[in-house]
Amino acid sequence: MKKKNVRSELPGARKRPYNFFGDYLWNTYGARILKLPVDAGFTCPNRDGAIGSAGCIFCSEEGSASPTARGTTDVKEQMENARRSFRRSEAETRYIAYFQAFTNTYAPVSRLRELYDTALSVDGVMGLMIATRPDCVPDDVLDLVASYQGPGFELWLEIGMQTMHETGLALLRRGHTHQSTRDAVRRASERGIPVCAHIILGVPGESWDDMMATAVEVSSLPLKGVKIHHLHVIAGTELERLYREKGFRLPSLGEYVSAVCDFLERLRPDILVHRLLGDRSPATLVAPAWGLHKGTVLGAIDAEFGRRVTRQGFLWDGARPDESANGE
Ligand code: SF4
Repeated sequence: MKKKNVRSELPGARKRPYNFFGDYLWNTYGARILKLPVDAGFTCPNRDGAIGSAGCIFCSEEGSASPTARGTTDVKEQMENARRSFRRSEAETRYIAYFQAFTNTYAPVSRLRELYDTALSVDGVMGLMIATRPDCVPDDVLDLVASYQGPGFELWLEIGMQTMHETGLALLRRGHTHQSTRDAVRRASERGIPVCAHIILGVPGESWDDMMATAVEVSSLPLKGVKIHHLHVIAGTELERLYREKGFRLPSLGEYVSAVCDFLERLRPDILVHRLLGDRSPATLVAPAWGLHKGTVLGAIDAEFGRRVTRQGFLWDGARPDESANGE
């Protein structure tokens, strides 16, 4: 059973101006919950030729795989490596198996079940997080994912929405439309699966109005969570080539902080904010350099909210999601 309000606040956490996922976990379970990243050896239809062969322009060869998942294909070993890397007391810590690298629903249901079950058999695991594309969640896969729901179990499906604008999706070379996202979110939420949308702020060519329209769209969908990333240029990607050859401008730290606060002010208050900027090692990051200073960026976002005296949902239009939202 879920433990409610065992402790009111994550130790050391400030009162945040947004609905932070880490605080939600602490307040719900009364324990530290850490993610154990898994690279289960999936590929992606945007890489294997089914949709495209070059991938999204921002995606590196590792496809978001964590360093702790390298060197072994064994799911349990990867999770053990991740667990050791945290160097925290095991006493109260519990874990979410995080299928992170590439498209983690891109296999037959029987194979997916085998992989998910293996991860869930690891000691202390009380949740499952699955990252995927909106066009890779057929009904039988969603039925499987929904079957893991239960009391005290933290289940999330992460869908790469990125932006609601077709020009941005085409530029990012995503190979799917926004209608795919609307359809996937609707079918998942009909099954009771909590969905978290990945968003990129700073897609080249997108204006402030475009980004805010995406915030309003996210609020109108039956989403439970959002992960916001800044556009960062990773070595070896098509984005790096464009950045070096065309020299498009990336937002400054101040511009990004302002855009994140503007976005969150328009976001439905109940949506959990899983992340507020992308994460990358110095070894593979080309730009912007400020992306390496996570604490500084998060502190600047808090300070900006303090200056505005606002918080998440302050400018939300009040519209509730249409659970049947499919754009038709
Ligand atoms: S869909 Fe995901 S894994 Fe595939 S190319 Fe794009 S970012 Fe990479």
